[in-house]
Amino acid sequence: MFHWDRGLKLTRADLAVDFRRRQPRAFISHAHRDHLARHEYALCTPETAALYQLRLGRRPTLALPYRAPIEWGGLRLTTYPAGHCLGSAMLLAEDGDQSLLYTGDFKLGESATAPRAELPRADILVIESTYGHPAYRLPPRQQAIDQLCDLVAGALRAGAQPIVEAYALGKAQEVTRILASAGFAVLQHPEVFEISRVYESFGVVLGCRGRLDGPPEPGYVLVVPPRALRDSREANEVRIAATGWAMDARTRWRLGVDHAVPLSDHADYDELFEAVGRVSPRRVYCTHGPESFVGRLQEAGFDARVLGSPVQRRLF
Ligand SMILES: [Zn+2]
Repeated sequence: MFHWDRGLKLTRADLAVDFRRRQPRAFISHAHRDHLARHEYALCTPETAALYQLRLGRRPTLALPYRAPIEWGGLRLTTYPAGHCLGSAMLLAEDGDQSLLYTGDFKLGESATAPRAELPRADILVIESTYGHPAYRLPPRQQAIDQLCDLVAGALRAGAQPIVEAYALGKAQEVTRILASAGFAVLQHPEVFEISRVYESFGVVLGCRGRLDGPPEPGYVLVVPPRALRDSREANEVRIAATGWAMDARTRWRLGVDHAVPLSDHADYDELFEAVGRVSPRRVYCTHGPESFVGRLQEAGFDARVLGSPVQRRLF
């Protein structure tokens, strides 16, 4: 049903899935840059199409709204929410004989800015397993939210400038909504601001926010992409990274920030296992995660293997 060509390809439809190099026909699960290329023709959700075109200019796309199957290239294709960022989608492909679910980046838990993930059953599961190690059992979401708000409030009380570093697409909007809902005055980096406009055009409420143009007045919290505004670093800044990697004590040092808060838009270790159980596949292929996760799935009785290479070895 599929083959590997330095990336996942659905054979019958010759459809490349999340390729980083230009393809005649590609499915894009979401608009993070490590999933994009200037394809000749791209299938994706309408939200992802808007973000893809914001990032890479106007390109031909075919809209695949959630839960609206189409017959295409000899396959039946259906997208489901992946809970990762605006427009993020899982892809279910059926050829009348077998079904394959590709998760892309996903999260099962609640998000402030993306619909909750839905997992259909499938014969074959291709799962993105970034946090496939028991060290990445994330604390309850509310705990991370409280930690973020406490750090920002503490910095403001001390007369310092809180700066939250978060990926411009997804995490930055999540952080903005959390902080705005808690009553903080938020200024967004211009890149974050432009992407947030796409969120709002699809009805996602982010709360009161402004665009950062020049040095801010006291009292604001800034939401910026990772490592932004480092050239003009001030002595009274407090830098906070919002990332699932915060579970690793080295992350604060690696990212060069004062604090790291474990607010993630990826499934943690337990959610990965839960996802596999819910899809109940005959075979599981793991991408992006540690090799050890494949072994843990096999110990749990699943027919699991690594798909493609390289897998993540660096952190474990
Ligand atoms: Zn992503």
